Amino acid sequence: MQYVTLNNSVQMPILGFGVYQIPADRTEQAVTDALAAGYRLLDTAAAYGNEEAVGRAIRNSGIPRADLFVTTKLWVQDAPAEENTRRALESSLAALGLDHVDLYLMHQPYGDVYGQWRAMEAALREGLARAIGVANFHPDRLLDLVLNNETTPQVNQIETHPFFQRDPDHALMREHGVQHQAWGGFPEGRNDLFTHPVLSKIAEAHGRSVAQVVLRWLIQREIVTIPKSVNADRMAQNIDVFDFRLTDEQMAAVAALDTGTTLFFDHHDPEMVAWLSKRRLDS
Ligand code: NAP
Repeated sequence: MQYVTLNNSVQMPILGFGVYQIPADRTEQAVTDALAAGYRLLDTAAAYGNEEAVGRAIRNSGIPRADLFVTTKLWVQDAPAEENTRRALESSLAALGLDHVDLYLMHQPYGDVYGQWRAMEAALREGLARAIGVANFHPDRLLDLVLNNETTPQVNQIETHPFFQRDPDHALMREHGVQHQAWGGFPEGRNDLFTHPVLSKIAEAHGRSVAQVVLRWLIQREIVTIPKSVNADRMAQNIDVFDFRLTDEQMAAVAALDTGTTLFFDHHDPEMVAWLSKRRLDS
């Protein structure tokens, strides 16, 4: 495994396992399989409804806690944000059966972001999280958070894949020491990613799969990636990407696929802002 060093010196695996959209009753098996395949970074969220199952798989694996890197995420909180953020983190820790997470992310750039961030900074100081960060923050929101708070987020987890490469976001994050993490690295197969002719040609040249080429492309950009799969063969394939390299020409061929647009939704879209801001996990 290759690691990145976050801006507070914490080491994070560059490749992990995401559990979004894995139903709670299938998550324990999926995480057990992922840990057996060698994954040590697990990415869940309060909003995914499967933290307890992730926790059971961790406990049953017998893998020492220090060898794991566990991420979970805070959903948008009602006021008072500081108090509710603390409660949400405690509830995630209880569900996971852990006394700390390795990374706690603000899942959406909405609500009382500053209040939520202050509570996350307190959690960092107290060791309830070894690192804190955000997700889905566009450059304007990220820069505002960086410039007007004590703690620069360690990570920003954003949609990133060959069709939406996020070069401006990446440059800003690099400038401020925020680690870029990709979600939707395969954009859930959208745009026929797995049979795309450019990616397939590169895959053939290496005797690898398109999925492996995409993961290599992310890793060579020093972007942390967390592919999701419920299939043990694909899990094994997705972690087997550390013994080949894309050439400069192949990196350039993937770079040319960028459309600069989301394949999911835009966090600047007022309808999405309203929908995500109003959503509550218990409703
Ligand atoms: P993804 O990893 O881009 O794509 C997952 C899809 O690819 C699944 O349909 C999976 O099918 C398929 N797949 C996986 N490996 C494959 C392979 N080797 N060959 C062919 N197909 C393959 O999607 P994602 O789950 O949206 O994103 C990854 C993780 O990012 C999530 O699980 C979550 O942890 C995180 N995330 C975060 C946010 C956020 O707002 N912060 C949003 C979305 C996701 P099978 O399962 O059938 O193999």
